[in-house]
This record gives sequence, C-alpha cells and structure tokens, in this order.
Amino acid sequence: MRALCDPSGGEALYRLHSPDAPVRLGEGIGPARATDEGHFAAAHRDIGRRGEGALPVFVEPSLVQLMHSEDPREAVAWFEITEARESRRLLAALGVRCAADGPRIVWCSAAESILPWSFRDGLLQSLADYPWMRRGEPATARALLDAGYFRRFWRPPVTFAALADARFSCQMSAACCRHDYEITLPAEAQMLIDALPWQTVAPQLKGTRLPVRTDGKLQLKSPEEVCRFLTPGNQCLIHRALGRQPFGACCVFPFSFARTPEGIAVGLSPICGSARLGLGLPAQERTEDLRERLAHAEPRTTDIYRLAPGVAIAWGPFRDVEKGLCDCLAAEELPLRRRLYVGARLLGALTDGSAVDVPAWRSEPLPALKPELRAAIHGMLARLLGWNRAVLRELPREVPDRLPTLEAADAQLVTNILRNTLYCKVYSFPLDLTTAYNYLIVLYLLALIMQSAAAGPLPERMWRELGSLGVHGLLKSMLHEGMPENFRALLGRSEFGLWMLAA
Ligand code: SF4
Repeated sequence: MRALCDPSGGEALYRLHSPDAPVRLGEGIGPARATDEGHFAAAHRDIGRRGEGALPVFVEPSLVQLMHSEDPREAVAWFEITEARESRRLLAALGVRCAADGPRIVWCSAAESILPWSFRDGLLQSLADYPWMRRGEPATARALLDAGYFRRFWRPPVTFAALADARFSCQMSAACCRHDYEITLPAEAQMLIDALPWQTVAPQLKGTRLPVRTDGKLQLKSPEEVCRFLTPGNQCLIHRALGRQPFGACCVFPFSFARTPEGIAVGLSPICGSARLGLGLPAQERTEDLRERLAHAEPRTTDIYRLAPGVAIAWGPFRDVEKGLCDCLAAEELPLRRRLYVGARLLGALTDGSAVDVPAWRSEPLPALKPELRAAIHGMLARLLGWNRAVLRELPREVPDRLPTLEAADAQLVTNILRNTLYCKVYSFPLDLTTAYNYLIVLYLLALIMQSAAAGPLPERMWRELGSLGVHGLLKSMLHEGMPENFRALLGRSEFGLWMLAA
C-alpha cells in the first residue's frame, strides 16, 4: 500500500509483482515482464504526482482472511483497508503466488465485501477493470486496485438528459452482437480473454486470439461476423463468466452520449428493438447504470454549435432549436411529412431571420419542383440505394415515382428513429442542425422506399438499417463525404429539405 501510494515507490511496487501480473503499461495494462523497473517507476512517479489530491490514499491494511488455492503456491488474501481521503473502509483482495525468491503479487482488487473468489476469479475480476486504467478521471489509475476503486466508489458529477420517452431494458435480442458493424477493443482485452476459464465456459474457444488491426486495436467482430462470444441462446459468454460486461462498446450499447454544457445527453440506438419500441425503464431512472456505461464511452463533443453551415450559435439557442424540432417531430396530429416540413421551415426562418409562422406552415402546399430538380434528388437517393450494404441491395434501384404521395405506415417508429438521430447529435455536432435535419428527411424518404419495397410492415433488418444510417452515423460517409461538392453544399440549406419532401 505504501509503495502504491508513494510516487517514489515505483521500484518497490514493481519488485513486489510476479512477471505475469497485470500492471500499468503505457495507456493500459500489460504483464510486468513487458516493462522494466525503471520505466515502471518513472510512469508511477509521473501518475502519482499528477493525480495528487485525486488518487486514493490506502492505509491501515489488516488481514481478515487467507484462502489457499488448489495450486498450493497460490493464495487469496483479504484485507480491510481505509481510503484516508474519504475515510472509507473497504476490502481489498490480493492474489499471491509463491516464487523461488518469495511471494509475489499477481493481482489486487477492491471490493465491498469478502467474496468467495478463487485465485482465478480474482484475477478475472481485477482484469475486468482494465477500461478504468485508460480513463483520466478522477485521476489516472496507478494500478488495477485504483481502477477497481474508481469503478466502485467514484461517481462523476454528471447530469443526464434524455428524450422524455426514451426507455430501454435488455430483452436479450443480441442485435448488438449480430449487427453489421465493427467492434474494436484495446489490446489489453486479450489478457482478459486469455484469463477466462474456457475449458469450462466454452472449450471450443480456448486459445482465442482476436485479430490485431493495423492501428493496434483488437477486432472483436467485423461487420460480417456474429460475435464469437455469443451463444446460440443469445447469451454473452464474457458477461456470463464475469457477471458484468467489461468491453466498452458492448457495455455502452444501445446508449450514446454527447457532452453538452449542461451535462450528458443520452440517445438510444434503434438497432435495439427494445429501445426502438420504447420498452423498459425510462432513461431518467437508470442513472447508476448510465454512469457505469458512460465510463466506457467517448461522448460526442463539440466546441462550436451551428444552426447551419458557417452559422455559429450559443449552446442555449442550439438546445432550444433541437428541442423545438424534436417536439415538432412528435406532433402526432400531423402526418410525419408535414412535421418534417414545419421543422425545415423553422430552420429556414431562424437562419434568414424571417417570421416564424407555424400555423401557415402546417397547411401551405409543398414547393413545386422543376423536373430536373426532382431528377437530381431521385438521383441522390438512387446513389444511396446503390451503396454496398446488404439491406440496401435488396431494394429496387429505382426511386418510386409516387414517393411524394407516400406516408410512413408506422409513423411512431420512424419518428422515434428520427428524434433519436437528432438528439444523439451524431450529425449536428460535427456539422450543423440544418444539415442534420436534412439527413432526417433523407432517412424518412429511405424508410418510405423500404416500405414501398416491403409491401407490408418493415422487417426487423430494415429497421436496423435505418438505425445504422441514422444514430450510428453511416449517412455522413454515404451522403456528405460521397457527394459532389456542389450537391453537398445544398445539404446545409433548409430549402433542400423542403424540396426533398416534395420530390
Ligand atoms: S462480447 Fe458479448 S455483448 Fe459484446 S458483442 Fe460479443 S456477445 Fe455481444
């Protein structure tokens, strides 16, 4: 404890560890043998000095239980310790192995009570705190003991905000584990995978090595794959073995987080049926759960809020316009096309300073389009339909002529997708509110094209595709980055939204 809490105790701390013990290595963790005493001590000193005042100060350890392992060289020792800064009593479990030159620490983890951990259970539980080694809040962890302490006891002073009807409870659809996106993990996740007792969990996965990408990250699944850790009964083997989910992307799903001056805005992914249908607990009642998930997330952030390209506004007006657009989308007394129209008119009026006249916008005719403009918009949609994605390949390449007369058969679900896409800020933070809103109109038109092709209720895979294009941000690369510049410039104009609704 003294060596851990003393910035100059790095050499002593290093020597206490077994060569295979997971210790601080760069941004994450690695076996002690992958570094040396000098490098470890320098990093320990630096982290200890920077984190002074925020790192826990552990004192007064007293042994309360010693449990020998099946392997007579290994033991699990439970200590009662005090964190002096907050006068908190807690327990710490220490996994020790006797080597030729004496006992060495293999792992150490914080806990609230004594648990019936075997040596291997403790190693796993301590490794599962690895994501907290990469966080800088409230301080960079010196060791997995700090990481476990932060996970259990530190709560960031965060206020969450969500759409009023945002609800979710896991129904074990495993949509997240099958969907066609890539999931990556930091390199140290392999240590956790190696430590799992595969012989009893799933012998066929023994020796699993995740592919290493060129950027050093591990690929948990590629877009074409179902995750290898998913059972036929839709259970996650990692979660089942640990009793919690340590992998960031898996832990965060189906939520997404955006940092605002008022806290954290929480969006929901419509890829998950429970979130899409609004089943389960309201987001406002999941604060503890959201805090745990937030620890694994990289919230969207921006330094500048824009109403339209080049039109910067303060956060307050940005938030109010976003809320006005979301409320307008929820106005069930109007057809969804008309709700989208009113929102586009509002954005246009706010950008050019003209009068806001919602009563007139609710009933005025859609703009008349020249045939060449309609053809250009249909050409843009056809280009999207030609994108190489399985669900889009199922759809006819031709945009139906009757597109402007169609209306969403399941307006509530489409509305849910559109509102979450706007609220999660996936497009409005990097771009602007008007461009983000025009993306919603594109999504709406794609939903109509899917509906027209499906000739009935949309199958699950099409709803998920709309979720991928929306909340998961695929439209940005398909539409914004894939379009000629003169066309892309139109995406930031509210008139373009009005034209698309009439096309
Ligand atoms: S690790 Fe588990 S939760 Fe994550 S994708 Fe695989 S099966 Fe799903």
